[in-house]
Amino acid sequence: MTVLFLVLLIFSVLLLAYYRIPLLISIAILAGLTFAFTELRHFLEIPGWFRWSLGIATVSLASFAIKPLRRLFISNRLFSVYRKVMPKLSSTEREALEAGTVWWDAELFSGKPRWRRLLRHPAPALSERERAFLNGPVEELCLMLDDWEIAEKQMDLPETVWQFIRDNRFFSMIIPQEYGGLEFSAQANSAVIMKIASRNVTAAVTIMVPNSLGPGELLLHYGTDLQKQYYLPRLARGEEIPCFALTSALAGSDAGAMPDRGIVCRDVFEGKEVLGLRLSWDKRYITLAPVATLLGLAFKAYDPDGLLGDTKELGISCALIPTSTPGVQIGNRHMPIGSVFMNGPTRGTDVFIPMDWVIGGQERLGQGWRMLMQSLASGRAISLPSLGAAGGKMSSLLTGAYARIRTQFDVPIGSFGGIEEPLARIGGRTYRMDAARLLTLIALDQGEKPGVLSAINKYHLTEVNRQCIIDAMDVHGGKGIIQGPNNYLARAYQALPISITVEGANILTRSLIIFGQGAIRAHPCLLKEMNAVAGIANSQARRVFDNALFTHIGYSLSNAVRSLLLGLTGSGMTPAPVAGPHARYFRQLSRMSSAFAFMADMVLLLLGGKFKFKEKLSGRLADALIHLYLCSAMLKRFEDDGRPASDLPLLQWGMEDSLHTIQQSLLGVIQNFPVAVLGRIVRLLVFPFGLPYAGPSDKTTKAVAQLLLTENASRDRLTEGVFISDRDDATGRVNKAFHLVLEAQAAERAIRNALKQSVNFENYEGLVKRATESGVITEEQATTVRLAQKASARVIAVDDFPRERIENPANPEFRTVPPKAAETDGLTGVNAARPDLAGNG
Ligand SMILES: Cc1cc2nc3c(=O)[nH]c(=O)nc-3n(C[C@H](O)[C@H](O)[C@H](O)COP(=O)(O)OP(=O)(O)OC[C@H]3O[C@@H](n4cnc5c(N)ncnc54)[C@H](O)[C@@H]3O)c2cc1C
Repeated sequence: MTVLFLVLLIFSVLLLAYYRIPLLISIAILAGLTFAFTELRHFLEIPGWFRWSLGIATVSLASFAIKPLRRLFISNRLFSVYRKVMPKLSSTEREALEAGTVWWDAELFSGKPRWRRLLRHPAPALSERERAFLNGPVEELCLMLDDWEIAEKQMDLPETVWQFIRDNRFFSMIIPQEYGGLEFSAQANSAVIMKIASRNVTAAVTIMVPNSLGPGELLLHYGTDLQKQYYLPRLARGEEIPCFALTSALAGSDAGAMPDRGIVCRDVFEGKEVLGLRLSWDKRYITLAPVATLLGLAFKAYDPDGLLGDTKELGISCALIPTSTPGVQIGNRHMPIGSVFMNGPTRGTDVFIPMDWVIGGQERLGQGWRMLMQSLASGRAISLPSLGAAGGKMSSLLTGAYARIRTQFDVPIGSFGGIEEPLARIGGRTYRMDAARLLTLIALDQGEKPGVLSAINKYHLTEVNRQCIIDAMDVHGGKGIIQGPNNYLARAYQALPISITVEGANILTRSLIIFGQGAIRAHPCLLKEMNAVAGIANSQARRVFDNALFTHIGYSLSNAVRSLLLGLTGSGMTPAPVAGPHARYFRQLSRMSSAFAFMADMVLLLLGGKFKFKEKLSGRLADALIHLYLCSAMLKRFEDDGRPASDLPLLQWGMEDSLHTIQQSLLGVIQNFPVAVLGRIVRLLVFPFGLPYAGPSDKTTKAVAQLLLTENASRDRLTEGVFISDRDDATGRVNKAFHLVLEAQAAERAIRNALKQSVNFENYEGLVKRATESGVITEEQATTVRLAQKASARVIAVDDFPRERIENPANPEFRTVPPKAAETDGLTGVNAARPDLAGNG
């Protein structure tokens, strides 16, 4: 009986915390229970200690409801402690933190995500106008792009391509139609970049930069009417090529430390003396700078002579400077690895500009950092993530196909268990990153500027693109390594570090920004607490702090209880918003979200302001947050796609891998907990029965690999939106051969069964002849086998070059030798479609 009542007591209290019953209602429930059991004692044998305990719990809780009392004894005292331990933020950090909005990240930080809310957001869709652009000008542009030609021969996009880009207003996707722009949704902007990137990274980067953070975006939000009227139509028409220069030699990741300066002064401009700035800068790595006509420049403004007022250091500011202005130096190029988009330094010394070249005019002097931070989220969530998704999709498409085409030991290499693993990683990761891309775009199209989610997207999709392409390289073996027009992987592989480094280098983004910013921005209470203690310590601030603090305590206790109860019940206690084989993932995610939120609070509580310097802990918590978001995105995607049963392996692979990553990240935090003994207690609360998530099973791995090794609807959905070549070029040949190989599969199997020999390029003519003569296969099947073998030979062919070409690269004349296999078969050679390359075999 005693045990029963003890359990009842504990569970009553735990359930109130689990369901986050508001304080007053909890008091009422406990008071009601106390009264009921007091009365019931006349009929039942109810121990006195039980009634007393309920009474004490009621009174204790009630004392927290009396705000003046709790302020006097608790929150006012903690107020001073918080003031000491809270991280001190620089103005640039504060502006970065306050910029943008929070969205699904806030739900994950709450520890109790409201899944129905997520699922209610409309599925991503493109308008007719956007679809027409993708199927028209984008498709046409892709056909104009020849990766090898651009990178090896021209070191630039051909002039016809530049002109096509300008004429079709590719630079104006974010510019409203009233200024002549395309005014596309975030979904369309991303779809355009992704498709072009799947064909050629140089063109994709060239187009994405003007559509990302730069003159266009800044003008739209902060430009004066005059600036908008003048520049936006010119940018839309491609009459201006913009670039944006923030980075300098001394200020890379710490861009706020730039030494580039502008001194407020008066000088003669176009014959008149005007107020303006004398600028000196030395920027590097600036994309499009070598060809830019309009330079967006970030610099620090100073007013030493007090021409504008008493403030001498005005702060970071942004101006638009025509590059034809005397003193502006552009033109030199850097050579970014693996890609030849225009990138270079820009310099200027004592260049005078009138004040109305400052974006937003004089009143925006000093507001540059805030403007940049506010505008960062959209571009960061679109550009590089689209490039990442393109890399994953192309890796899935081409690596699956190649693994089916290429045979070793008489079987397609894709049927080896060892190859299934990288194939499944590529497929599962691509499914996951595309889901994250799509979900974040939904937020953008609803007008959100989700700072933390855009950082997650940028970091994860560039990082995972790298992993996908590395896996793709491994599966391709030597075929991926030998450079030439036949290699469709090497350039993407080489260019990987670019997207890792730009728009917030990945190590910094993971270790400092994602959790650091998320914890403050997306946490339900922390920013309120920080703001309350940051200002003057008056009674209003104390009241705000008190409210935030007790809400925070409630959340933390609830998350601790939820972690434990969900851990004990295998998440069985929490409902899923849907039925079906994926319902359990919603439950597991609810559990991990509670665990994450609880542990985040514990770490922040123990470390206070020192947390800022604990980047390894921050990185692990970031990993957990990233994968919580990715899981949410995958579930949303699965629902939006109409729960296709054939996609389940992709969902399972992604979810199981992510849950395992979340678990290992939290375990890493526990093992390095600021107070070791507390770490052990946290482990018991979060993982009471040990570690539940083992990662994708071999069965799931095999199922995902199979999806990439055949033509099917899931593979089409997975790779949707990339440019699929049907031409006689490197990727077109893979697509064609893949199709033929699958078509010839049944006939080849029949030949092997009948003639006890596997078909390969050396023996197929003889085998096909015998099999046709003996009626094993039809004439039609024989043709398919022949075509498949020839097409496969062309895919596995690699390039070789005359020695003088390699030893004297300055010699512009070069030729590739048609591969031996293709020659033997009387084919015209790999370069038949490229007479300029074909030749001296
Ligand atoms: C091809 C290319 C194109 C670019 N285009 C533009 C452009 O158009 N406009 C523009 O203004 N800039 C541009 N950049 C600059 C780019 O944004 C910077 O390269 C980037 O901000 C990193 O600066 P950095 O290269 O000086 O590296 P550093 O700042 O020196 O960083 C080096 C390493 O230290 C890490 N790190 C730094 N601080 C921390 C920290 N607190 N915690 C943990 N790790 C940290 C970084 O993650 C990185 O791994 C471009 C760069 C490249 C390479």
